[in-house]
Amino acid sequence: MAQESRLNVGILGGGPAGCLAAFFLQDYCNVLIIDNSNILRTILPTGGGRCNLAHCEYDFKELAKNYPRGEKFLYSVFSKYSTAETISTFEDLGVKTYVQNDNRIFPESNSAKDVRNKMIDALKNIDIKKEKGLRIEPTNEKIKLVTDMNSYYFDKLIVAIGGHSTFDIISRLGVNIITPLPSLVGLVTSQNLKSLAGISVKDAECFGIRGDILFTHKGVSGPLIYKISSLKARDRKPYTISINLHSKDLDLQDLLNKNPHKQVNNLLSSFLPLNLANYILDKVNISKTDKCHKINGQQRDLILNLIHNFKLDVIGVNKDGEVVTSGGVDLKEVDSKTMESKKINGLYFIGEVLDIDGFCGGFNLQNCWSTAYVASDAIINSKLH
Ligand SMILES: Cc1cc2nc3c(=O)[nH]c(=O)nc-3n(C[C@H](O)[C@H](O)[C@H](O)COP(=O)(O)OP(=O)(O)OC[C@H]3O[C@@H](n4cnc5c(N)ncnc54)[C@H](O)[C@@H]3O)c2cc1C
Repeated sequence: MAQESRLNVGILGGGPAGCLAAFFLQDYCNVLIIDNSNILRTILPTGGGRCNLAHCEYDFKELAKNYPRGEKFLYSVFSKYSTAETISTFEDLGVKTYVQNDNRIFPESNSAKDVRNKMIDALKNIDIKKEKGLRIEPTNEKIKLVTDMNSYYFDKLIVAIGGHSTFDIISRLGVNIITPLPSLVGLVTSQNLKSLAGISVKDAECFGIRGDILFTHKGVSGPLIYKISSLKARDRKPYTISINLHSKDLDLQDLLNKNPHKQVNNLLSSFLPLNLANYILDKVNISKTDKCHKINGQQRDLILNLIHNFKLDVIGVNKDGEVVTSGGVDLKEVDSKTMESKKINGLYFIGEVLDIDGFCGGFNLQNCWSTAYVASDAIINSKLH
């Protein structure tokens, strides 16, 4: 394609979504990435530095179930580009992947830095400017982007600013923004759990979901809690959660009968951390040094109720997890077949800036890769028609 006939495409935000879009577009369009920071800086902490870049789920409807916000919207997106295409793209980039036993997909190098370097190496035909986007001004023919240093006129502008910066630049265009709120975070509780800080419970259960939890100085955290924080991201606080601390079968009366001379806290500590056993006994006013034969039926039920129904009042969040944003560009205003704004021609939204967020496990990066592909493909095809 002659240089003059190529579309000028601006990409505001050089995170995972913006950079993969640039990669797909670079052979067909003149591409300029504008980011006020170093591109792909945000991929470095992913997966604890190992970059959990996708999830081993090849059925796109099943994959979409992992997004509390965006499930239906993603059907069309994932039908075009999901796990298989992601693995193949990364192979093209020189990033071989493997599936961990929990179905998370990682680079063989186990290095987010390596993924970043390979992606940057692949961006051969693009310009990059370290500038801050301030205003977007659609005109009849072009879309003007005003930065802190320049003004640019693009045929198409992809907005990929993620979920952690201000959305003003978009909301000023009249695009509806669903209020951004943190997801995949620890939860702060009104109960003082300081004495339990650092204790973890394996295979707990909450809202029918199983996973590990970790008590913190301010509340609870860990994989199960991140998932709960995602499901409840848009609930008004305070709200109450009830955790089953021992989701396996438990016949406490039988254990009490078989261990009459054992201290009750030691009995409970055979299946719960000792500090947690002491905390539970304290809550139901039973001395931790009492012998098992002293525990009557009513006390047994109080203990069991706390074990299976450990209620916590959630009053806030603790940003200790992956921290993705629930909220962003209202999906009703975006065409899922192209990622183009339904209000402003030539303006596209991809990645976390959209009101799409998934659980931990590679789902949030998958949203970036897939929406980047759909927008790029639509732009390339718009040129051909
Ligand atoms: C600690 C941590 C670990 C994570 N681990 C995983 C994981 O293992 N797997 C997974 O799937 N997801 C993970 N995530 C989530 C994932 O990193 C994000 O969903 C993803 O980075 C979003 O990509 P994005 O390109 O949409 O936006 P971002 O990565 O946020 O990138 C946006 C870019 O836009 C730039 N920008 C913003 N505003 C402007 C402006 N006005 N002008 C110019 N530039 C601007 C920013 O500097 C940034 O470079 C993790 C998140 C965190 C915080």
